[in-house]
Amino acid sequence: MSSSRFSAVQEMVQTNEVKIGHYQGKRITDIFNSNVFVGKVIREYLSDEAYKSLQNSIKNGVKIERKVADQIASGMRNWAESKGVTHYTHWFQPLTGTTAEKHDSFFTIKGDGTAIETFDGDALIQQEPDASSFPNGGIRATFEARGYTAWDPSSPAFIMETGHGKTLCIPTIFIAYNGESLDNKAPLLKSISALDKAAVEVCHYFDKNVSKVSTTLGWEQEYFVIDETLANARPDLVMCGRTLVGHAPAKGQQLEDHYFGSIPERVYAFMQDFEQESYKLGIPLRTRHNEVAPSQFECAPIFEEVNIAVDHNSLLMDVMTRVAKRHKLKVLLHEKPFAGVNGSGKHNNWSMSTDTGVNLLGPGKTPRTNLMFLTFFVNTIKAVHDYADLMRASIASASNDHRLGANEAPPAIISVYVGKYLSQVLDEIEERVTDNFSEQDEVILKLDIHKQIPELMMDNTDRNRTSPFAFTGNKFEFRAVGSTANCATPMIVMNTIMAETLKQFKIEVDELIEKGEKKEIAVMHILRKYIAASKKIRFEGDNYSEEWAEEAARRGLNNFKTTPEALDAYVTEHAKQLFMSNKIFTEVELDARHEIMLEDYVKKVQIEARILGYLATNHILPATINYQNTLIENVKGLQAIGLDASTTKAQINLIKVISEHIQKINDNVEAMIEARKQANNEADMHKRAALYCNAVKPHFDAIRYSADKLELMVDDKSWPLPKYRELLFLR
Ligand code: ADP
Ligand code: MG
Repeated sequence: MSSSRFSAVQEMVQTNEVKIGHYQGKRITDIFNSNVFVGKVIREYLSDEAYKSLQNSIKNGVKIERKVADQIASGMRNWAESKGVTHYTHWFQPLTGTTAEKHDSFFTIKGDGTAIETFDGDALIQQEPDASSFPNGGIRATFEARGYTAWDPSSPAFIMETGHGKTLCIPTIFIAYNGESLDNKAPLLKSISALDKAAVEVCHYFDKNVSKVSTTLGWEQEYFVIDETLANARPDLVMCGRTLVGHAPAKGQQLEDHYFGSIPERVYAFMQDFEQESYKLGIPLRTRHNEVAPSQFECAPIFEEVNIAVDHNSLLMDVMTRVAKRHKLKVLLHEKPFAGVNGSGKHNNWSMSTDTGVNLLGPGKTPRTNLMFLTFFVNTIKAVHDYADLMRASIASASNDHRLGANEAPPAIISVYVGKYLSQVLDEIEERVTDNFSEQDEVILKLDIHKQIPELMMDNTDRNRTSPFAFTGNKFEFRAVGSTANCATPMIVMNTIMAETLKQFKIEVDELIEKGEKKEIAVMHILRKYIAASKKIRFEGDNYSEEWAEEAARRGLNNFKTTPEALDAYVTEHAKQLFMSNKIFTEVELDARHEIMLEDYVKKVQIEARILGYLATNHILPATINYQNTLIENVKGLQAIGLDASTTKAQINLIKVISEHIQKINDNVEAMIEARKQANNEADMHKRAALYCNAVKPHFDAIRYSADKLELMVDDKSWPLPKYRELLFLR
């Protein structure tokens, strides 16, 4: 009998008492932001001068003077100490995809030996973590070994509670000695400001009062929760976050009874607990529900300014993982933890809003505001059309390949869904606005178009859940983002391609205006041009269908199924031009990032290959051979007591089939090791990633196929790894 699997199930049953995560009568507003340096506490702990300076810096990105920084640091420390904090850290998002921190205490000893607590402006503004092992794609090697973290005042400081420890976290960017970015936040901030500038100028066609445009992001996080003890009995879940073998359960999601069903009590307690931790950190969680697959769930906040929203998503993933441990649960953020079971994504709802309070992707009430809406709407479609490959690259990862490249939602082909109503509006503009400027134009503009755009479109849209990028009434929803992703990566691309498209749009409109056309008419004519030019990216049908893949190929849309090929879009001339002219990345930074992402891919597949080889050789084959020996003993026994061949036929057959699978597993493990060796010898990272993708990975499927067949044959008692039905249905 397999000890590890059965003792895990046993232990799970014994420790499965529900911990209460209830709110103890507190309202959410009582705890919301209680661990964040915002709002009233800033007023309370900062002098007027420091307060004004900080506000100005948050609003206008102005640099904070050293003298004032000292005051802010001291105010922050007083606040943090009042809450029992002893240490601080610069909190940043290196290109590992996770978050990083290095703690220092406020405690120090002065020259005369007195021990005091201190935190000055220097410590707040800049730090030099010994971070030489974070990925840098060769950047730091060529200049300076060290990276620097620098305070980002636009994201508020917060207190992270870990057990009984409390740490003041200062959100920072992470850059190299010469200013080249080594993280996700620095380029995100640049993309936000590029879009702000371009969008404000376009807004001025319609409203001169607009002086700032912010990008908004509302993410939806999907995840699985399973029992920790069971998860720990599976090396693949521990090391890779997904199962590398495992036969689909007899009862999967066919019945769809989990979707929006009642949340199991144990998971519910966990949810309430991590929600409370999130509220303290200012993460405005709003919804929670079951997802399609068994043990799959989703949570989503109210949308926020994109920089804050990205930080909050990173924090949430951290908090969930930590809080789950308290409940002896394990959160799986991986895009595809279980084969044959729905995967997890992270929808990124993206929009832009003005400082006059207008959502630029929300239909307006008047012809003029509707033309403004149409302008941003059509420019988004044009941006996606022109840079679809870059969007695909922005969501590429080894784990997301299991969704995008496989037969799962959504496909790797980027397209835009706009819904029936807006399709009609776009078609109409395309047909009726002609190259000749005529009096008709005014009518089309003032009456016809406006009349067709319903004020509230929520109920009429979002019927198409298969689209990777869908308009959902007042925002676009980028659905192809993976559940483990740092949202900054796709958001940097969205903001930048939108900034670039709006800049070009303005140049074209201005040319017509200079020729004497009326502003609105000029806008409408360029919109028409963009609608016609970006038609092939629009698709309203079923994105999962084989017909769409064929149709997309005919249209010339790319279908990059794997990460190594998808990532190439980052280093084309087209992409370099885009990122450099908008000052988001230098060429060196782009090349470095490309290299880092390829390396990340290689490492992930490499680890999986190692674990799979280990599982096959050390877990599956021994259990199988033991069972086969039992069969052999049985056959021998039957023969010994003189029974004829018919009584041993089934056993002998099974022994043979088992041998075949043993052989296949063995052959593939050996071939996989060999393929890995060859890949590792390849110095060029792009070629190495391609080898991992095309020469190493195919063995995964072959090994898994036989392993899963064996799972069905081998005596249940002897099977060493917790099975899907135990992982997904036991609570
Ligand atoms: P679903 O996609 O499951 O149908 P909803 O349509 O209710 O969910 O909303 C999804 C998300 O859209 C929410 O997280 C919400 O915060 C976000 N959202 C709503 N308006 C905006 C906006 N203007 N900008 C960005 N995100 C938004
Ligand atoms: Mg959604």
